[in-house]
Amino acid sequence: MTQFLDRRRFIGAVSVSAAALATKAGTARAQGAGPGGPVAIASFNGLGSVAKARDMIRAGADPLDAVVEGVRLVEDDPSDQTVGLGGLPNEDGVVELDSSVMHGPMHRAGAVASLRNIQNPAAVAREVARRTDHCLIVGEGALRFAKKLGFKETNLLTEESRKAWLEWRSKLNDSDDWLAPDEFDIPLDGRDPQAAREGSITHTYGTIHCSALTPGGDLAGVTTTSGLSWKIPGRVGDSPIIGAGLYTDNEVGSAGATGRGEAVIQICGARTIVARMESGDTPEDACLYALRMIADKTRVARLQRPSGKPNFQVLFYAVRRDGTYGSASMWSGRQFAVSDVQGARHEDCAFLFDRADW
Ligand code: ASP
Repeated sequence: MTQFLDRRRFIGAVSVSAAALATKAGTARAQGAGPGGPVAIASFNGLGSVAKARDMIRAGADPLDAVVEGVRLVEDDPSDQTVGLGGLPNEDGVVELDSSVMHGPMHRAGAVASLRNIQNPAAVAREVARRTDHCLIVGEGALRFAKKLGFKETNLLTEESRKAWLEWRSKLNDSDDWLAPDEFDIPLDGRDPQAAREGSITHTYGTIHCSALTPGGDLAGVTTTSGLSWKIPGRVGDSPIIGAGLYTDNEVGSAGATGRGEAVIQICGARTIVARMESGDTPEDACLYALRMIADKTRVARLQRPSGKPNFQVLFYAVRRDGTYGSASMWSGRQFAVSDVQGARHEDCAFLFDRADW
């Protein structure tokens, strides 16, 4: 925490350091003192991330450092084609990353969008919150900001993601000179197996969100992604939008989203969930409320099943200040990652619609 806050504001705002609180209350949690931190919750691909975040919090780390380091594991993993290195590119074949962070104790936010060539956008977003008076830096400006701070440029497009992009490109238009996929042999594997079940191979979604709570009741959250595959260059999803793909209120809870970002933005998803938790909803009920709102407001025919239900997936994740947590998906069959006193594991998401009714 001392690294994140400047000393003047730190002393003025908080009398006990997060690390001290974590150490003191961590003992109580280990002895089974009821709900509370440390708890970390994440999307399915964040099993290692929640374990790492919780371990760091137990060792006294600030919750923001814990979640940013937790998701770094996935950003650095070339086999996860939805985040960081190996992320699926935009329609020009260029990987563009979005990320946001929020630090509960000081209610500070930072984000980057359409960031190219930098493997760990969440760490850059943390620097936006820590070192600047801004909340969001995009594109060329974000890259220059990251380079000034010493972040190294990397080619983020792996061979696998380049081949997947080429395959998509070849299917775009029957009358261009790109061969159709059945004329050559490129497998469709290597994508998030859960996302691949969502029905659309035209575009692929995937992201990691992680929120964490310390034993002292401090919260932080992060969302990081390569966004919608094959997007129009410069398209920004919900992940770097504070209040949409991420929102943290230290007095209430923290929430985040994955899935169709446009739908999440249009209902201010994460902010809606935190507001519902403030009114007394459990995290799971708050996630379901936001999903219902999306379903009610999905009125464009191209986004609907014949039944009128949304033809896309959205998932929400939330943790409340008292340590209760929950997640829900628009369509059934999804899981999330959580780590608390019982260790890191996957649990089933609640859901709005049963996939059997798809
Ligand atoms: N929400 C992300 C976006 O729309 C993608 C995802 O989570 O799948 O950019």
